[in-house]
Order: sequence, then C-alpha cells, then structure tokens
Amino acid sequence: MNATTAEESAGHRSGFDLIWVGRLIAVVAGALLLLYPVLSDNLYYQNMIILSLVFAIAASGLSIITGLAGYVSLGQGAFIGLGGYTVGILATRHPDTSVWLWVPLAGVTAAAVALILGFVALRARGPSFVIITVAFLFLVQVIAINWRSLTGGTEGLSLPIPTWSRDIANWPFYYTLVGILALQLLLTWWIRRTKLGTGLVAIREDETKAATVGINLPVEKIIAFVASSVLVGMAGGVYGYYLTFIDPRGMFNILLSVETMLALLVGGKATLWGPVLGAFIVEPLNEYANNNLGGGNTRLLLFGGLLIAIVLFLPQGVLPAVESLVNWVRTRGKAGLVGARIGTGGSLSALTERLSLVERDPAVDPPPLLEVKDLHKAFGGLKAVDGASLVVPEGSITGLIGPNGSGKTTLFNLIDHTIHADSGEIWLAGERIDRLSSWSRAHRGLGRTFQITRLFREMTVLENVVAAQRSFSWGQLGRIAVSGAEARAAEDLLEYVGMRAFRDQKARALSYGQQKLVELAQVLMLDPRLILLDEPAGGINPVLIDRMSEMIRELNSYGKTFLIVEHNMPFVLGLCDPVHVLGRGRTMASGTPAEIQKDPAVVDAYLGDDFVLESADAAAPQEASS
Ligand code: ADP
Ligand code: MG
Repeated sequence: MNATTAEESAGHRSGFDLIWVGRLIAVVAGALLLLYPVLSDNLYYQNMIILSLVFAIAASGLSIITGLAGYVSLGQGAFIGLGGYTVGILATRHPDTSVWLWVPLAGVTAAAVALILGFVALRARGPSFVIITVAFLFLVQVIAINWRSLTGGTEGLSLPIPTWSRDIANWPFYYTLVGILALQLLLTWWIRRTKLGTGLVAIREDETKAATVGINLPVEKIIAFVASSVLVGMAGGVYGYYLTFIDPRGMFNILLSVETMLALLVGGKATLWGPVLGAFIVEPLNEYANNNLGGGNTRLLLFGGLLIAIVLFLPQGVLPAVESLVNWVRTRGKAGLVGARIGTGGSLSALTERLSLVERDPAVDPPPLLEVKDLHKAFGGLKAVDGASLVVPEGSITGLIGPNGSGKTTLFNLIDHTIHADSGEIWLAGERIDRLSSWSRAHRGLGRTFQITRLFREMTVLENVVAAQRSFSWGQLGRIAVSGAEARAAEDLLEYVGMRAFRDQKARALSYGQQKLVELAQVLMLDPRLILLDEPAGGINPVLIDRMSEMIRELNSYGKTFLIVEHNMPFVLGLCDPVHVLGRGRTMASGTPAEIQKDPAVVDAYLGDDFVLESADAAAPQEASS
C-alpha cells in the first residue's frame, strides 16, 4: 500500500510540473501572438497568422465532436463558409450597418445548421458518418452556387472595404480572431471537465455501453455538434470580411475541412492545445507549399504525406507524443501499476447515504420487480431468444442458467435495450419499459454488467465510475464531472469493491478481474434497483469469486435485486433462488436450486448426471441454513 502511495504521488508531481511548463509555454506564445502586429507590420506573416487562427478555432471546435465524442467530421470547413456567407449576405444588403454586427449572427447560422447535422448523426456512426459530413459540405456548396438571388452564385459576393485607418489594416481582424480563439479554448476546456464532456468521451469509447449507464445520447451529441460549430461560424464571418470577397468554391472548399482535420490530428485530437499547435504547423506549411512548391498537386502530396506520417508514427499527435516522452524521461519507464493491490473491500454500511439501501423484510411476499413476457429476437434465421418469459421477485437473487448459446446474453441485451426485441413485453416495477431507450431504463433503476467487460478504456477508473448518470437533467450536464458528492460516492464505491488504489489508472491497464470489479462499482453508481450480472465469476480467480458472491449477498441483504447469468454451478446454486433455465431461447424450467437439480429435462439437457451428485451435496447445507 505504501509503495502505491509513493508512486502515485511521484506520478502526480511530474504531472503537476508538466502542467506548469505547458502553461508557461502557452503564456509566452499567447503574449507573442498578441504583440506581433504591434512589433512587425509584415503583412505576409500577419496574413499567415490570421489564417492559422481561423484553422485553430475550427480545429479546436472540431476537437469537441471528433476528439471527445469520436465522430470524425470532414464537414467542419462548411461552418467557416456558412459564417462567411452569413456576414457577406447581410453586409451587402445593409451597407450602412457595421459589418461586425453580423459576426454573432454567423455563429447562430452555424449553430442552427449544426443542430440539423446533429440530428443526422443520431442515425449514423463510423465511416457512414464521415461520408455524410462530406456530402453535407458539398450540399451546402451546391446550394451556395445555385441560390443566386441570395449568394450571387459562382460570381461570389464582395463585402464592404474596411473603413478604418490603413496603418492598422489587419489589426481588427487579427484581434477579433484571437478573442474568438480564446473563447473557443475556454469552451472546449470547460466542456472537457463537465459531465457532458465525460459523457462524450464515453460515447467515443463505447456508445452502446454509454447508454446503459444512463448517458442520454441524442442530447449529448446534439449539444456537442452545436458547441463545435458556433464560434467556428463567427470566425468564418470575420474571415469572410477579411477576404472582402467570397465565393462557393473558396468558402466551401473541402481543403478547408481537410486542413482543419489535419491540424487536429497533427496537434493531438484529445488535447486542449493540440489543435492550436496543429493549426500553426499546418497552415504555414500550406502557405510554404503554395508559394515555393508551386501549390496545387505538390500541396496535396505534402498534406497526404503528412497525414500518413502522423497516422503511422504519431497516432496521438505531436503534443501527446512530447508529453509521454517527457513523462518517460522523468520516470524512466518506472511508473505503472507495480505494487497496487486489490483491496480487501470496504464496508457497505459506509454507503447507506449514497445508495438507497434498505433492510429487507423477509416476512413479506415480494412483488415481481422484473417481468419478461414472451420475448423474441431472431438474428436472420437464428432464433436467439424464442418466447422467453421469467419473473424476478423484488429482493431476490435470481439465477439464469443454460448451455452456451442458449440466449442468456441476448436476453440481457433485450432487457437493457442494447439490442431491440422483435416482440414481447418487459416490465420493471410495474412499468412497461420495452419501448424505452437504454438510458431511460438505467434511470428507472436497471443496471447491467457485461460478460466481456466494457469499461471506457481511455478513462481512469474513477472517471469510469463517475461517468454513470443516475438521472437526466440539463443542469447536471454543465457540472464538473469529477467533483463533490458524486466523486466521493464513486470513491466509496471503489473502496467497497476493493479498487480504490487503482483510482487514477486508465481502465485499459486493468486485469480482467479488476475490470469486473470496476464495472460493478460503475453500475452501483446508478443506484439500481435491479442489477443484471452476466457471468460475474467467469474468468476470475477463486479468491475474487468468493469476494464477488460475498458482495452480491451483502448488497442483496440491503434490498438490491439481482438477476445473474453464470456457468459456475456451485456459485449459482449457493447464491440464487429462484433459478431459471434457458434452452434454445426459451425458459425450460424455473424453481429453487433443489428443484432445478432434480428436473429430469434440465439434467438431461444441461447439468448432466455426474454434476447432480456432486453439487447436490455441496448445495444441501446452504439450503438447510436458509
Ligand atoms: P449465451 O449467452 O446463452 O451463451 P448468446 O445470447 O450470446 O448465448 O447467443 C445466443 C445465440 O445467438 C448464439 O447462437 C449466438 O451465436 C447468437 N447471437 C448472439 N448475438 C448475435 C448477434 N449480434 N448476431 C448474430 N447472432 C448472434
Ligand atoms: Mg453469454
């Protein structure tokens, strides 16, 4: 334990120093950026910086939807164009009004269009989403070309020439863009720290799983899309004014989107400053290629080569690569999980304030908590679940057994809506839930662990637990994720399952058994009434199996209901009552462990003759005691 603490604090110290070095660099770079127009009137470099600023804003916005939420968009440049056109159209129609007045409206236009794109994103992910964003970009371009009365078509629009003194020619554009970039960075920084940000990372890591721990997918994704575009639209407005001439070919050029994406990838898509750094690398490079290498194809070759090099050699981007190099030099590769041990587990009584734990009254005949009625699910011709029906009484530890492939996991998937059922009914605490989304089911008290654990791999253990959202509220989305009562509850839960020592480790670094424990803590964070466990004792060592059944028993004594799929028969027969047996997607038998073991159909199909003799003896004392 002592070794762990020492190493943990060493890790913290180097992280702490790094943050300050990073901040110092940011402050110096920021000061240089602010002073440059005053120090030098070189218009070539001013122009280069102005373009870099536009890309930095676009890339930082993109980092919300692509870096955090994992939705790769090649349409980000469209928001620059939409902003430019909003300002262009309004400025040419109202020549007497200051052009700057239209810049916020450029943000509104971008947000409105992003809202629509966000709704599209609810239906598509992965490569199909990328294609949709490219199509979206071309669609907007086609509209700009053909809606001549509004946009002037291919001839483009000429904006009013700035009226201020030539001495400070570019300053207003320059400083407005610096201001917008500061706002964009603030927005991105803030979102990363909120519950919304944690939800977005969860969506990136495993969207289906995110829904089962209560994350409202459509709301979070749509907010992310809007947040990633508002300020980009404003920057596009300033950019259009700066150019004084805009046309569809330039403003909706796919190269703007490609360059934005490249800036994000070069700098580091999951970092705050990466996109800025990337923009200030990629844009000057573009400028150089244009002027010295004859532009055109050479430029494309350069971009393509850069992209390949980044993907091959620095997949995380420049900034994270530098960070891990510095970290490695400081710790000489000594950091890691060495010494951290699974704890003996905390006491549940410490959690009575966090979880709605009630002592069960054994005298009362419990009502059904979960009722599954005639559920069906076919994969093509294979009927995985074929008319399954079962009841889980409130306060019980109900077992679900059956041979491999009998549909147990699929049944769980239907109950928590990881997969949509073909037909049948699911009732939870007297409410029909089969038309509800996964997150609504989670908010109503349904928690579920997976046969192959599904933690959010790039999050820390603590973040994984905090990511679970017990209910939905708009206000909660803006709250800082790892803080206050919720973070303390998460720590207590980690203590309970014995994983507190691993609090700050990435989930991907954990062993299989450790992942199972963290996933249990994560699900408990939902304060569920019913917990579905898919093979909790599968693939973990015997000590952990005992601890697992001890926790289940203890949680149950405080009123938590369980439905458990498990192959380890002594585990099931010692713990569960009633037990349901599934065969070919249908409930074959239900009863007490003793009844199940005697049922000839079950013995024949599943348990086998040898098994009964052995486990009947093993289970007998437990029956007598209960
Ligand atoms: P169990 O958990 O009882 O071992 P499963 O529910 O995982 O069984 O699988 C039941 C049957 O459904 C198996 O034959 C399996 O191959 C099939 N199956 C499960 N999920 C899918 C899927 N997503 N697509 C196609 N077939 C599936
Ligand atoms: Mg299974």
